[in-house]
Amino acid sequence: MKQKCLHSLVIAMLMCNTAFSGVYIVCDDDGGNPAVTKEHAIAVFTEANRYLRQVAATLDITADSIQYTNRTAWKVVNTTTNNFPLRIRNMGRVPKGDSHLRIFFVDSINNSNRIGFNCDYFMVIAKNATGVVLAHEFCHAGGLRDIYAQRDGVSIADAGVVKEEYMPKDWSGYYPSGLLHTNLITRLLMYGYLHPDMGDIPGGRVYGVYRPRVNGRLLPPVKDMVPVGLQDLNRQPKHLDFILF
Ligand SMILES: [Zn+2]
Repeated sequence: MKQKCLHSLVIAMLMCNTAFSGVYIVCDDDGGNPAVTKEHAIAVFTEANRYLRQVAATLDITADSIQYTNRTAWKVVNTTTNNFPLRIRNMGRVPKGDSHLRIFFVDSINNSNRIGFNCDYFMVIAKNATGVVLAHEFCHAGGLRDIYAQRDGVSIADAGVVKEEYMPKDWSGYYPSGLLHTNLITRLLMYGYLHPDMGDIPGGRVYGVYRPRVNGRLLPPVKDMVPVGLQDLNRQPKHLDFILF
């Protein structure tokens, strides 16, 4: 006799994954005035790894893997004039073709309140960024995208309370009754603005506003299911080799 199972629980075991990184602290030309101390960099990694534990990923760092790079011009990254090293011969001891992320600690980005970004070749973390920012940028390197409740006039403010169709991979029903979907979005690690609640990495895509990227170009924002979860995350991302002169 067969009994029909009304409820089933699927538990997926994730293999732990370590992503390797070369970490560079930018100093003045004379080697003085490092943007952060080694202890600070390690503390930021340690905090980031507490968020990444949700997806069994670890971002490695050891005191020995941290290098200093002396270039005053890089201490304040200017993304408009591109003063950063897209074209350099050899960034320290990260061998060409090695599977590493390149993470630079700097003073600030565009002299603005922006505190982190990731591009194909490297990641930049400002000195006042915490581990949640590094974890967020790590997930960008792994393919995830920023999610918003509203951006450039496109809004899901009318989405109402959380529901299964907005997050089908994560639906359990165990949410406070009345939790608005727009408030759930601010809890996600991939929320596009720094928010005190952010940190959750869901299992799959979540409905929201995002900017699709086609051939490296960002398109205007749309409402869609946004890749912000484990389903779309490469837990061992690496940056492309720098372009050589
Ligand atoms: Zn982001």
